[in-house]
Amino acid sequence: MSSLKKIDTLENVNLEKLCTIKIGGIGKHIFFPKTEEEFKIIQSQSLDKDKKLILLGIGSNTIFKDGKLDYFFISTRKFKYIKYWEKGDYFYIHTSAGVSFKEITSIVKEKNLEGFENLAGIPATIGGAISMNAGAFNTEIFDIVEKVYWLNRHNEIIESKKEDILYGYRYTQFQQEGIVLSAILKLKKTNKPISKIIKQIIINRNKKQPVNIHTCGSTYKNPKQYPAGFLLEQSGLKGYKIKEIAFSNKHANFLVNLGKATYSDLIKLLEYAENLVNSNFGIKLQREVKIVE
Ligand SMILES: Cc1cc2nc3c(=O)[nH]c(=O)nc-3n(C[C@H](O)[C@H](O)[C@H](O)COP(=O)(O)OP(=O)(O)OC[C@H]3O[C@@H](n4cnc5c(N)ncnc54)[C@H](O)[C@@H]3O)c2cc1C
Repeated sequence: MSSLKKIDTLENVNLEKLCTIKIGGIGKHIFFPKTEEEFKIIQSQSLDKDKKLILLGIGSNTIFKDGKLDYFFISTRKFKYIKYWEKGDYFYIHTSAGVSFKEITSIVKEKNLEGFENLAGIPATIGGAISMNAGAFNTEIFDIVEKVYWLNRHNEIIESKKEDILYGYRYTQFQQEGIVLSAILKLKKTNKPISKIIKQIIINRNKKQPVNIHTCGSTYKNPKQYPAGFLLEQSGLKGYKIKEIAFSNKHANFLVNLGKATYSDLIKLLEYAENLVNSNFGIKLQREVKIVE
């Protein structure tokens, strides 16, 4: 692993530290690349050594299984840069994958920009949000994406315009292949009181979602017929728990770790809920959370 030696790395890390629900085993190799070149080195070494490559932002939609996971994890948290410029009525932000929504929100407030406000408050990095096509209040990140720069399996950096990218509801092609390196967001200059609007949006989010508890956000995608939270609630699962893992009593679609929840109890709870909703409504819930097994 000679060329990997230059890259910030941690070995045998408790994966609880790398996800917001705080469940998981031990990650054998965690890399923290700071440059595009370092991403390339990690990817080529993972292919040479036949190691699965797992990208991680904040880990706010990720669950790890327990035991030892001998994969190459890449945390983007040290890969941060932001450039921005104006053109006519628009404001463009070129941001690397490791930049957080919090950091984007600060720019949006400072420059008074329209388009991002509904996304403020989602705990995400740009890379994770682009991969998930994160969204809230009828807005998704792809509404404001202009371009994505990503690394394919051959270590080529591809520049893709939004219209050339496959994306949909909480889905993008990057869930199959590709490391998101950076993106250009296009926002509009406005006279609306953006800081005030964002403040209200975050108040509304906090009224509906569990706060100050370990969670991984929405467990299931909303089926076309009904919201997943409604189906879970109607099945009597709001607040339902198996030992220390539960569906939140504030929002049934949010899994919450009540203390020392285990992966096996979490999987039991998911399977129980999926069977119950299927038998009650004939609807197969699709998991939105990404489970690293
Ligand atoms: C309290 C709470 C509220 C939430 N509210 C919302 C909400 O309103 N709307 C919403 O959509 N989501 C919500 N989520 C879920 C989560 O915040 C989003 O899915 C977010 O986009 C995940 O970002 P992340 O950086 O933490 O990604 P991670 O969880 O680290 O990763 C998510 C997926 O993206 C992949 N990935 C990460 N970085 C890259 C990269 N650079 N290149 C390629 N793939 C990558 C990972 O491998 C994984 O498959 C919420 C979560 C929590 C805990």
